[in-house]
Amino acid sequence: MNFDVKTNLKKVLSDLPSGVKLVAVSKYHPAEYIMAAYEEGQRIFGESHEQEIRQKVDVLPKDIEWHFIGHLQTNKVKYIAPYIDMIDAVDSMKLLREINKQAQKNNRTINVLLELHIAEEETKYGFSLDECRQMLAEGQWRELQNVRICGLMMMASYVDDPEVIRREMTLASDFFDEMKAAHFANDDNFCERSWGMSHDYHIALECNTTMVRIGTSIFGPRVY
Ligand SMILES: *Cc1c(COP(=O)(O)O)cnc(C)c1O
Repeated sequence: MNFDVKTNLKKVLSDLPSGVKLVAVSKYHPAEYIMAAYEEGQRIFGESHEQEIRQKVDVLPKDIEWHFIGHLQTNKVKYIAPYIDMIDAVDSMKLLREINKQAQKNNRTINVLLELHIAEEETKYGFSLDECRQMLAEGQWRELQNVRICGLMMMASYVDDPEVIRREMTLASDFFDEMKAAHFANDDNFCERSWGMSHDYHIALECNTTMVRIGTSIFGPRVY
């Protein structure tokens, strides 16, 4: 097993230009898989279930940077707030407020990405472009001292046609530029564009992504 994880990780890393961060998505995979990637130097891991991530945090090295990449329920924020480094998929102002509140209780600042819903699929979460535009324009987020908005995240439609994926990611990239100019021109923290998973990260690299979230190509298929 370790051999494969290490080989796969090296292959993925060799595809990424310097400056593009890799979130190794380890959900549903055991701690020993994470350790294999860790031994190769990987430090950023993504999980999407509160109980699973907590168990892993307890047994794995302390210098791992943990990202919560899935849909996060407001009532779960308090469990991850003490240690989470980034919450990658903030999809409502209510969730952002709760993250701020729990971060404050823990005396820390939590990094977040705002999730955009651009894909056709109804099942996906996230702000529509208009909702995100409006939320940032209203400006209440500026009062939240314990969250740091570091950029945007999106999942493209799960389709084979690369042109559909490219169109969605280009839209996200253009929207990032618009929001950067309108609200974050003087904020260097707002720099991340997280698009790209195992099946579409090559396209994401053409669409200005700065961060990719890759599971299957590193750890193999998940057994749910
Ligand atoms: C599971 C997941 C991924 C990783 O997907 P792979 O296809 O295994 O690379 C990326 N992003 C999010 C939000 C996920 O939930």
